[in-house]
Amino acid sequence: MLLPILLSAVQAAAPMVRASPVPPRLVVSLVIDQLRPDYLERWRPQFRGGLAWLLREGVFYANGEQDHAMTSTAAGHSTMLSGRSPASTGIIANDLGVPDRASPLIRSGGPGASPHRFRGTTLADWMVARNPATRIFSISRKDRGAIMAIGRARVPVYWYTQGTFTTSRYYADSLPSWLSAWNAREPATRLAGHAWELSRPAADYPEADARPFERGGIRHVFPHVLSTDPVAAAVELEAHTLIDSLTLDAAWAGVRATGLGTDAITDLLAISLSATDNIGHRYGPGSREVHDHLLNVDRWLGIFLDSLATIVPLDQLVVSLTSDHGVTEYPEAGAGGRASIGTEVTALNAWGRDTIGVRAGAVGYSGLLMARTGDLAKRGVDIDSLAGAIAARVRRLPGVLTVYTPRTLRAARATDAEAGRWRRQLPSDAEWLVAASLRPGWIWGRVGGETGHGTTNLDDRHVPILFRVPGTTPVRITRMVRTIDIGPTFAALLDIKPMERVEGVALREVLPKRSSR
Ligand SMILES: [Zn+2]
Repeated sequence: MLLPILLSAVQAAAPMVRASPVPPRLVVSLVIDQLRPDYLERWRPQFRGGLAWLLREGVFYANGEQDHAMTSTAAGHSTMLSGRSPASTGIIANDLGVPDRASPLIRSGGPGASPHRFRGTTLADWMVARNPATRIFSISRKDRGAIMAIGRARVPVYWYTQGTFTTSRYYADSLPSWLSAWNAREPATRLAGHAWELSRPAADYPEADARPFERGGIRHVFPHVLSTDPVAAAVELEAHTLIDSLTLDAAWAGVRATGLGTDAITDLLAISLSATDNIGHRYGPGSREVHDHLLNVDRWLGIFLDSLATIVPLDQLVVSLTSDHGVTEYPEAGAGGRASIGTEVTALNAWGRDTIGVRAGAVGYSGLLMARTGDLAKRGVDIDSLAGAIAARVRRLPGVLTVYTPRTLRAARATDAEAGRWRRQLPSDAEWLVAASLRPGWIWGRVGGETGHGTTNLDDRHVPILFRVPGTTPVRITRMVRTIDIGPTFAALLDIKPMERVEGVALREVLPKRSSR
């Protein structure tokens, strides 16, 4: 369905013109959370909107990778415009990403958030360093999607919580009037009772609707109806297809209010659409829900890009599309299984408390077991032998492929690809004991009812990377490229020098002839 509030934003259809390259007025960094590249290829014949346009006009790298070990949202977003891996951005896991009690939200009870753990700079900082008049704007349903996309910059950054878009004290002391007005229309609560129906005839979807394992077999078939209670509906929306429409509508309101793209100075707009992630977790990449949701995203993106084209000439509009991670199919669909290091976490905390009287602080993120190794060492614990003992037990868990300890990771050969991913994940000052990788098809987490990502496997690392740059030739590239290449590519396009050493490289197919170097 098309939201009336979004439709009202459409002022004219985008003219499809190709002109000689001129400096961009607007760079759009577009992220679709948990977008697998095969989605774009499988459903391309049914796309008519923004995804169709990007695929038609863009340089499409079908084998992009989030080339690090723990493929999750905060870490993934931190790589894109920084040109650096999580080991360098400092973002290990979602829980160790944006949560920040010192930065409460404005007019909302949601958890505080800021980029206080983010290390170094991103394209946003590089652009502002070159021209302080550069406008930056970032928005997402998720705090980590909005914040981690641009790093530490104190600029307009907004995310959704409990029915409204807001920000935290890190960024501002109050909401701008345009956003207060947007929130006052109560677009979220007004969707109470809305039914998500298929947008095409059922015969157009090869996927079965009622796979028994989807969402634990509860409320797993169309239509998906939001609660009739407005407060409950506003919360349910966080995982609903329509939240991406609301995010784009708020983005458009913000673009107009802040004047992005309205003068010759290149501005930066970062948008991360989150619903694909929630829908993928619940129903899986082989579901009818993910298929239909991507058709919705395609349509809403088309409206948004048409709207943008009314203020930014298409020959001055640069767009990238990528994702923070992929996803693994439900193990219950036939392959792999579920693994957990939870038993080891519990055992280590109990041992620390009962045996040596120390808070071990053990916590597990995907296959990573972190603990207060400094405190343990001070109490005389031999960290190498402790890590080795835990690693030996983790190695025996079903589905586990390889296990590293700090010592074995240091000693691993440069040709060890798994070791390389963990090295690019873990900052040198991270306190950890064991890092485990799973066999393909396996996921972390014991409970059923959802599938996931977070492993080092290709299904979780694999993302599309697409650039729509005026003056380039649309082409599909199969060479493996990385999300850390996106920031350096934009820097080269804009003739900006990154303010620090980056790991990624500028992708040559995206650089127009004039700026090839
Ligand atoms: Zn997720």
